[in-house]
Amino acid sequence: MRISESRAKAEGRAQVRPTAEGWKQAMGDDGRPQLQFTAKARVSQPPVHLADLTLDERAAKLKEMGLPGFRAKQLSVHYFQHYTTDPEAMSDLPKDRRAEIAEVMFPKLLTEVKRLTTDNGDTVKFLWRLFDGSLVESVLMRYPGRVTLCVSSQCGCGMNCPFCATGQAGLTRNMSAAEILDQIVQANRVIAEGGLGGKRRDGGHDAERVSNIVFMGMGEPLANYKRVMNAVHRMVDEAPEGLGMSARGITISTVGLVPGIKKLTEEGVPVTFALSLHAPDDELRDEMIPVNSRWKVDEALDAAHAYYVKTGRRVSIEYALIKDMNDHGWRADMLARKLNARGRGWVHVNPIPLNPTPGSVWTSSEPDVTAEFIDRLESAGVPTTLRDTRGKEIDGACGQLAATE
Ligand code: SAH
Repeated sequence: MRISESRAKAEGRAQVRPTAEGWKQAMGDDGRPQLQFTAKARVSQPPVHLADLTLDERAAKLKEMGLPGFRAKQLSVHYFQHYTTDPEAMSDLPKDRRAEIAEVMFPKLLTEVKRLTTDNGDTVKFLWRLFDGSLVESVLMRYPGRVTLCVSSQCGCGMNCPFCATGQAGLTRNMSAAEILDQIVQANRVIAEGGLGGKRRDGGHDAERVSNIVFMGMGEPLANYKRVMNAVHRMVDEAPEGLGMSARGITISTVGLVPGIKKLTEEGVPVTFALSLHAPDDELRDEMIPVNSRWKVDEALDAAHAYYVKTGRRVSIEYALIKDMNDHGWRADMLARKLNARGRGWVHVNPIPLNPTPGSVWTSSEPDVTAEFIDRLESAGVPTTLRDTRGKEIDGACGQLAATE
């Protein structure tokens, strides 16, 4: 009997194994779940957009068009501060060249296909069509005192986790930095137009724009490292070079690409880091998270801990609780032991009840099991908070983004 089966039995519990039931997981030539780290060679990237460039690069591009460098700043204000790409609104530009400038600097990247709203207007899911017809989603969520946007970083995802809807169709291509950023700018425009949140009883309103970003939409951000980091730089660059956001409000979540975590550690941008662990033992994680065949639980935890040591930023461990699969008491204990072995105060755990995905036969853990899982971690001194999950009714919650019309 496998170790996990005998341990489950000792607790009077079952051990469900994560074989992909209800749908077919793509398999590689080696007979294992397929992993795609790079997009197919032939896919083309979208045209370069102002948001792909630094302020200096924007000025250089405008000079090539015979325009003075200061126009770069004006255009940046239009885009990053007024959320507009409409040449008619740019009265500070020479009238005869406005249309041409806008065409070069602001090629259309995201076209809204569908918008779904729930939570009394406080949660909005957008479906975007990209220049090549690819579809991606982002989810905008208003909370007291902050507005969070969950952004996509890839069209599809190559990580093939059986419990996540995004991975089921594989990876089409990486998104460009500007495609990532345009999700924020478009969300900011919607907020400015009053498109987020129902009427508040006190008549007041919360943040006027997106204050927090989570890279928890479609894709594996660390598999698109360069463009994601370019986008992150633009998010934190002061306006009008960028959005002037705080790095602490940006969360990069990864399935555990250790070389990427190490690069991020050296990057010098103090973003919040989250590791999607979902199992503390390799026996289970090997089957749940295909990339565990490359980097094991301990390697991923070591890299996460090193991120904390270097940046002082407390790390999050994400853990989708799946009934009888990864929610056993002994797993909570093992997780606590592995985290505490690396120190105290460096990490917190964010369990999240599994969200349903098409074809999946698994369900989220029972409330008493969830409570015990949290309790065991807390008793061992590991801060643990059950994650609030938003947007389930509109298939906009974690793991549900599949981008279909
Ligand atoms: N690829 C990155 C970011 C995208 S997923 C990553 O894996 O971290 C964002 C979070 O949703 C991850 O923690 C992911 O494991 C989790 N998730 C995926 N499917 C889920 C589901 N069905 N229910 C709940 N969470 C899920």
